[in-house]
Amino acid sequence: MIELLFLLLPVAAFYGWYMGYHAALRNSENRNSGKIRNLTRGLNFFFNHDRKKAADELISFYDSQSNHSFEENLALGNLYRERGELERAINFHNNIMIMEGLSSDERACALLELARDFIQSGLLDKAEEILKELISYDAEKARACELLVKLYDQEREWNKALDTIKCFRRIFRSSANIAVKEAEFFCELGNDAFSVKQEKEALEYFRKAIRVNGTCVRAYLNIAKINIEQNQFQEALTALNAIAEAEPRMISLCVKPLSRCFPGDTGSQEELLVLEKWLQCSGSEAVALRIATILCNIRGVSDSEEFIIRYLKKNSSIRMFSLLMDFRLESLDSQSQQKLQVFKSLIDAHQINSSRFVCRHCGFKSQMLFWKCPSCHKWETMQPNASVDVSQETLPPA
Ligand SMILES: [Zn+2]
Repeated sequence: MIELLFLLLPVAAFYGWYMGYHAALRNSENRNSGKIRNLTRGLNFFFNHDRKKAADELISFYDSQSNHSFEENLALGNLYRERGELERAINFHNNIMIMEGLSSDERACALLELARDFIQSGLLDKAEEILKELISYDAEKARACELLVKLYDQEREWNKALDTIKCFRRIFRSSANIAVKEAEFFCELGNDAFSVKQEKEALEYFRKAIRVNGTCVRAYLNIAKINIEQNQFQEALTALNAIAEAEPRMISLCVKPLSRCFPGDTGSQEELLVLEKWLQCSGSEAVALRIATILCNIRGVSDSEEFIIRYLKKNSSIRMFSLLMDFRLESLDSQSQQKLQVFKSLIDAHQINSSRFVCRHCGFKSQMLFWKCPSCHKWETMQPNASVDVSQETLPPA
């Protein structure tokens, strides 16, 4: 009987090994299926544009082991940056720099991501240093140049940004909005010169802006402003007409400067002719309002009313309707006047509370015009809100 028990020992040992092996196999399979689940969920979140949740899942997929390849370090760094964990992002990208056998393309790729980490961390000096080195690598030259311009833009280093664009103009040729940025950098320098009363230098910067971007409203507007201050009204008119031609949707910004090109506040036949031309190309409510005001001043209320009704047949405009009510109020008895006044004050209150400018890229709304949207940081994306008159209250900064 004891001999029989000894014979069973190898069988028991084999059974123990077999069960242990399969348990380990099951654990490994469970781990792998868990990782695949993280990957799948991460990709699903990514395609559903939920970048934060995608980053969480993909980090769980990649970061479950201690040794990472070049690609894994790169991906993990980018994912942690996406999640706002910039120190960890920098660590992963730095890990690449100490890897052996790195090709120059791989090094350039890691340096670029490191520069992005530093920009997001606000360590702009370190980012600048890396980007200047990166420009010498062919692999990432274009993206390094673009990031360097973005960095100088953020630091308000307009001359450095312009120098970078000038040095690498061939690279920027494919970038659609580089001319917009370049013109805006010239405008910033123009503003700086204008603020210390160097009008001649300022004018030169604004003209440079127009040379690189023929539709730069800000440059034309500032040229008009300087010309008006120097009593060069014909030159100012030329600049304002250029805006009407290039960007009719910004025409409401020109109404006030135009009124300063002609003597007197009541308006003149000459101003009216220009405004009628602008109205044809833009249909702008601000232009129509000024026309109605001038008509009232120089020809009388009935001509102005006739014009307003003609305009309202083609366009919906609360401001023009409000002006019409102003005219009609005068012909009513005091009781009817009081009733209508309540209605009119509601309409006017709605206008006052409406945002005057809106960013066509991100939808940011503001009472003030910003040439660079404070929300999405894109240049020249803010435009007058079509349903609000911006001609009188809020002109853009110089
Ligand atoms: Zn925006």
